[in-house]
Amino acid sequence: MRRTPSYVLSLLLLAAPTFSQQADAVQDTTAGLVETGLPDSTISPPDSAAPVISTSLAERYRANANRLIQSALADSFAYRRLAVLVDTFGPRFAGTQSLEDAIDWILAQMRSDNLENVHGETVMVPRWVRGEESAELLVPRKQMLDFIGLGGSVGTPRKGITERALVVNSFSDLQAKADQARSRIVVYNVPFTNYGETVNYRWAGASEAAKVGAVASLVRSVTPLAMAEPHTGSMGYEEGVRRIPHGAITVEDALLLQRMQDQGEDIVIRLKMGAHFRTDTPSRNVVAEIVGRELPEEVVVIGGHIDSWDVGQGAMDDGGGCVATWEVVRLLHQLNLRPRRTIRVVLWTNEEIGLSGGRTYKTEHEAELENHILAIESDYGVFKPEAFTFTGSPEALGILREIASLLESIGPISVVEGGGGADISPMTKVGVPGMGLNASGDKYFWYHHTNADTFDKLDPHELNLCVAALAVMAYVVADMPDRLPR
Ligand SMILES: [Zn+2]
Repeated sequence: MRRTPSYVLSLLLLAAPTFSQQADAVQDTTAGLVETGLPDSTISPPDSAAPVISTSLAERYRANANRLIQSALADSFAYRRLAVLVDTFGPRFAGTQSLEDAIDWILAQMRSDNLENVHGETVMVPRWVRGEESAELLVPRKQMLDFIGLGGSVGTPRKGITERALVVNSFSDLQAKADQARSRIVVYNVPFTNYGETVNYRWAGASEAAKVGAVASLVRSVTPLAMAEPHTGSMGYEEGVRRIPHGAITVEDALLLQRMQDQGEDIVIRLKMGAHFRTDTPSRNVVAEIVGRELPEEVVVIGGHIDSWDVGQGAMDDGGGCVATWEVVRLLHQLNLRPRRTIRVVLWTNEEIGLSGGRTYKTEHEAELENHILAIESDYGVFKPEAFTFTGSPEALGILREIASLLESIGPISVVEGGGGADISPMTKVGVPGMGLNASGDKYFWYHHTNADTFDKLDPHELNLCVAALAVMAYVVADMPDRLPR
């Protein structure tokens, strides 16, 4: 996903317009307060003697929003559930048995939560195998580099590739040094600015290096924090360009190689990668619902991706997003809050290496997309929520900002224009309004795609804040009288 500058985030809540529901306020004053199903003594119906001329969306839903927030913050159920998920199954890489075992466990748990229409939807996923891998500095002195191959890369010959290295700082620096790049291992020592920008070197670095004759490429890990951990991630090859091996080294090692080059030293590296693809294999998107009480065919989708990289535990990328969005529907069910429209939680498979979960969901649900009211994704770690990002119409943005004003007690949580998330991007491209939940700071990218993406970094209260924000947003959009405009 893309970062939104924090100065934008802080400005926007103040500017939130008011959205009035004048037209149907009179005949529908109790919407969102009295639910079908069991009566609930904690919610009092509005005073029928009071004349109701106009009720803003925020006023209409304040009581239920507060109730959702209180319930979300009341215990650490989601936090404990996430621990069981990531500790039991570990990393959940596409094509592995651990991913499928985790999916089976989630489906069983969702059934025991009494969610509706719980099922898996088949998705074919690629099976990239990392194999044995290493990068060793041979000259000017011997040292093993902390190395991790990038997903989708080809491997090296069995004996490895032993060549001189050329350190560059950008694609334009590579162009300037193009005459020195032939037969070299190009090392991109590119400082982190923001994820969306810096990740280009991970994604496209191999083909750019191959175009000037390099035989392999290494990228400085895409992270704002140096903690001696290499960060993996996916990479791509440009059509018609020779495919060369591509991997990541730590920030510390990239800086070391830079200093050696600046000191006039020759640098020689031996790179070994056993990476290769096997045949595609079936996995599943996990689906569960609370079926809408009046307009069941209209759907608000909410979810994260259940796969992870093959390192760490995938606790924040994206176990946390999965459990937080799943917790939204569990809470609604528990509180007997059945919204007017359906809320469908989708835990997409294989976001990390080709996005086949999100793509397949879009194609398999093509006929329903017209009735997809909103798609919400949580894939930014479940740290303290700061903002929703939104792709959709200005009119919808105004409404969502008013809903976000209901989160004042745990915020402010603003709604900013642009963005959403990878898994929902196939849908937002064809016009489904899309939202992402962003957490504060760059913390997510400290641990992103490393062995340090583990449960211990997470905080139960922060996770609950994410649940609360997601629950209020999904519930109000699913329940409000008018459908969110496109
Ligand atoms: Zn992710």
